[in-house]
Amino acid sequence: MNAARPDAARGVAPLVHREQPPADVLIRAAHVLDPRTGLDAPQDVLVRDGEIAALGAPGSLEAPEGAELIDGEGRHLLPGFVDPHVHLRVPGHEHKEDLDSGTRAAAAGGFVAVVAMPNTDPVLDDATVLRSLREAARSEARVPVGFLAAITRGLDGDALTEMAELADAGALGFTDDGRPVHRAAILRKALQYQRLCGGVLALHEEDPSLSGAGVMHEGEISARLGLAGIPSISESTMIARDAAIAGYEQGRIHIQHLSARESVEAVAEAKARGVRITAEVSPHHLTLTHDAILERLDTRLKMNPPLRSQDDRRALVDGLRDGTIDCIATDHAPHAREEKEVPFEQAPMGTTGLETAFAAVHTELVVPGILPLALVVEKLSAGAALLGLATPRIAVGEPAALCLIDLAAEWVVGESGYESRAENCCFDGRTLRGRVLATVAAGAVVYRERAFAVSAA
Ligand SMILES: [Zn+2]
Repeated sequence: MNAARPDAARGVAPLVHREQPPADVLIRAAHVLDPRTGLDAPQDVLVRDGEIAALGAPGSLEAPEGAELIDGEGRHLLPGFVDPHVHLRVPGHEHKEDLDSGTRAAAAGGFVAVVAMPNTDPVLDDATVLRSLREAARSEARVPVGFLAAITRGLDGDALTEMAELADAGALGFTDDGRPVHRAAILRKALQYQRLCGGVLALHEEDPSLSGAGVMHEGEISARLGLAGIPSISESTMIARDAAIAGYEQGRIHIQHLSARESVEAVAEAKARGVRITAEVSPHHLTLTHDAILERLDTRLKMNPPLRSQDDRRALVDGLRDGTIDCIATDHAPHAREEKEVPFEQAPMGTTGLETAFAAVHTELVVPGILPLALVVEKLSAGAALLGLATPRIAVGEPAALCLIDLAAEWVVGESGYESRAENCCFDGRTLRGRVLATVAAGAVVYRERAFAVSAA
């Protein structure tokens, strides 16, 4: 992977968050599952001053004076999740989400770090904007937040940002997410600058001349509903193009939110050729298809890229299993209620996803035995390494970045509201299995499920 670690080299912390009191907690007898250390057994886990201080057989550790005792029996303790792709809508769109509400949603979903996209107002294309945003996150963000800066000024696709300066100011990488880098020469130039300043180029792949005014996947359902379609090739042809450019420039690219079988194939081919390419997939593309839109023309099911066919969904699951797809990312995209309460054609693209990511994938893919739990847990934090961030591990001496989950607990999405400011969740109303009970991020307890908070006391 890319050896460049501009943040470490320049003394800028890659992630920022507000100060919170470090946790002193003994989690007793939870089933600890950390696919990276191979731990898969009931354990006592002692967190002292925000660090994992001891692991031991159930009942072997004593809670020190003043430490809180959490009964983990029958629950799973996992390394916290890391999301390389969220929209926190700050600055400029605080009516949709803000640093506090977005990171509250993250904590409720078991996420211990998130990376925000730059399609804000103003666009995060300038070091001054980035510095003030990081400053705001230092007082508002409940879980550590990192930022990707724009590849092109104003996301207009024409002129590159000052990438080196942005990297100096703490940008983890660059993306024009929401839009493709439509001119090949601009992407080529960005890859050349990447050599100097490091950081990944995260790419939203879409050929606008093919996606046009499409509002859903182009296929039998769009034809039946008489809605304009977005063909799979609008994504896969751009991936093939950008993989070729990255290979030529020996640069490193990360493909955002894969949605189609052809796209998985394009990534697999590029990897086989030795291109430095990684890819992510969202929980909604792994678990839902365009058939859901036929059942109810619900604007919460409208996102870009769109939900595609059953065959596409299966290819994404297979790609995740065989390693073609490196990580799960939510693409959490909050919108205000009135923005989504319009006819399907007019609604903005996007679904929220932080609070439902684990439960959706667990319910639809782990419970039926399609994917192993350990693989899903690993993929939910694999985005960290792709961005040069530390991967959460459950081992003595590590900063506590954990989530405690009841795998058997069923809950109805949205029934008791959302932590996010937005309600546009594509899983709204569904019964999911697997509930996050508590989250420890950067050594502090940042979330307790309401009922659990009472019973834990
Ligand atoms: Zn996107």
